Amino acid sequence: MVLRASNLRQVAPSLRSALLAWFKKHQRRLPWRVKPSAYATVVSELMCQQTQIATVLPYFERWVSKWPDFANLAKAEEAEVLAHWAGLGYYSRAKNLWRLAQEVAALSEVPTTAAGWQNFRGVGPYTAAAIASIAFREPVAVVDGNVIRVLARLMGERQEFRDGAQAMKYFQPLANQLVDPQHPGDFNQAMMELGALVCRKAGPLCDACPLADFCQSRGKSDLEVVPRFTPKKRQFATVDRLVVLAGSQVLLRRYGATAKRLGGMCELPTAESLQLTLQTEPAQIAKRTIGTVTYAERLHAVKLTSDLKKRIKTDAELEWVEMTELAHASLSGPHRQWLQKWFTRNDPPKPGKSP
Ligand code: SF4
Repeated sequence: MVLRASNLRQVAPSLRSALLAWFKKHQRRLPWRVKPSAYATVVSELMCQQTQIATVLPYFERWVSKWPDFANLAKAEEAEVLAHWAGLGYYSRAKNLWRLAQEVAALSEVPTTAAGWQNFRGVGPYTAAAIASIAFREPVAVVDGNVIRVLARLMGERQEFRDGAQAMKYFQPLANQLVDPQHPGDFNQAMMELGALVCRKAGPLCDACPLADFCQSRGKSDLEVVPRFTPKKRQFATVDRLVVLAGSQVLLRRYGATAKRLGGMCELPTAESLQLTLQTEPAQIAKRTIGTVTYAERLHAVKLTSDLKKRIKTDAELEWVEMTELAHASLSGPHRQWLQKWFTRNDPPKPGKSP
């Protein structure tokens, strides 16, 4: 029987059983599922926000072997925390996790509800529900992009959503009614896993789907465009970044610890921040475009002119870092990878003299 708002109570028990049986057999063996705990759930949930699981796995393993619980993480130095996060991006998550560990370590009891977890900075409704349901068996539903897709297709929902937040709000009551009250953590993880592995955005595997008998969209020609979202108008600005070398040192910008973006982290300085207009700057800058970090970041090697030296001296955020020390420099992931690749190539740019 397909799932409809009108028969939800009737259908929910068999849908839950089918989903949980599938999850038991087909779930990916992830380190935070092997020995679930509040700490492992918090770390994995924060790491997995906007990041693929395959990328997170080595970071998670390193993190929990260095800091196995909230108390240990609470005692860590901020620079060390950021260095262990380097490469995962969205560094505010690392700082939020570190602060959260300090707050939790100071409590006599760890919160056990989604409402309690939402009081921590960086923990939104989705993460709070994941922690409370997985680690404390609170029957609250997790609604992320994967769950939205599964629910929209199950229910044959054809309305267009402005964005993910609006869709999340729309599907939360339905998800709350469907969540298994006995096994909320497994149910939530199973829904997310089904969305990731079977009810995929492109090429859903309906023939292998444990919920096929309940689904209103199975076999429909417009299946892949459900859920529907209003197309976004995107405008990408290209950022010009500089590689400035002096002897064995490279110039980096270190953001203050309290900076909203990349607080405490380093990256290659932008041309704009050094008041260099690459198109019109005099020839002695000896600019050459040497690559791209991401689709929107161009890199240029520039000569360390006396004029540039003066500008660098007046900018307190700029620092010279030995190339051999880059591994410890809390450098943002794409820049670190790009520089490492560049320095191992045969044609590095000619360095200038030490500043
Ligand atoms: S039957 Fe197909 S569309 Fe429906 S939930 Fe399963 S994979 Fe998704």
